[in-house]
Order: sequence, then structure tokens, then C-alpha cells
Amino acid sequence: MQSIAEQFPRRAFVTNGHEDWRTVVEGRVLATTPKFGGRVKVKRWTEDEGRWIPASTLRVVAEDERVLDCDGSCGGTGVFRGGGMILNGKHVGGTSGPCYRCSGNGKQTPKDRGRNRYYDNHVRRFAV
Ligand SMILES: [Zn+2]
Repeated sequence: MQSIAEQFPRRAFVTNGHEDWRTVVEGRVLATTPKFGGRVKVKRWTEDEGRWIPASTLRVVAEDERVLDCDGSCGGTGVFRGGGMILNGKHVGGTSGPCYRCSGNGKQTPKDRGRNRYYDNHVRRFAV
């Protein structure tokens, strides 16, 4: 059986798989300990300090598994469309520019998602 340190190499990206931003844990492995049944110190995007998480709730995410299609209005094109309409397959009117949710890549990295999660739950709430 692999030790906790072998299962969770330093700097590996781990997640607990939660979708809810309040309970999700995603971040880099800072340290591990075999104490308490195995714990992993995870550095989350939103926190300066790492926190100890039970290893049994975490899994390592492969680098390429972490890149997802953009969930924003660009539909994977990387181009943000505000207002206007689609006419004969072309976007007319309104504004367009690099999609803020994916930084114009059409794909979202964990950093993008962390930023979007913050935006969705902190910034937008106050704008309504
Ligand atoms: Zn996008």
C-alpha cells in the first residue's frame, strides 16, 4: 500500500470533487502526514494558508483533466458576446471581446474557475 506521501506528491493538484463552492477543496499539496489516518495540507486558491484535509476525501487530479471547456457565454470560442444577436451565424451588434471566464482561451484552468467562483459568489451578488 502506498504511503500518504506517495499518494499525494508535493505540488500535486487535488480535489474533493465537490461542486459547491462552500465545501469544495481544490488546491496544491503542501505537505502530508500519516497522523489521524492520513492528512494532506492543501493550499486553496482563495486562502493564503493551507489547511489539513483527511486524505480519504481527496484525489489527485491529472494536469490535463483540470482543463475544462468554458462555461461562459463564449461557448469555447474564447470570445465574449454581450448583447446583440446572432444573425446568419454571425454575431452582430452589442459588444465582443476576450471572454473573461476563460481569459479568451475557450478553456478554463483551475485558476480561471477559482476566479469565476469568487466572482459568482462575491462580486455578482452585490451587483444585483
Ligand atoms: Zn469563455
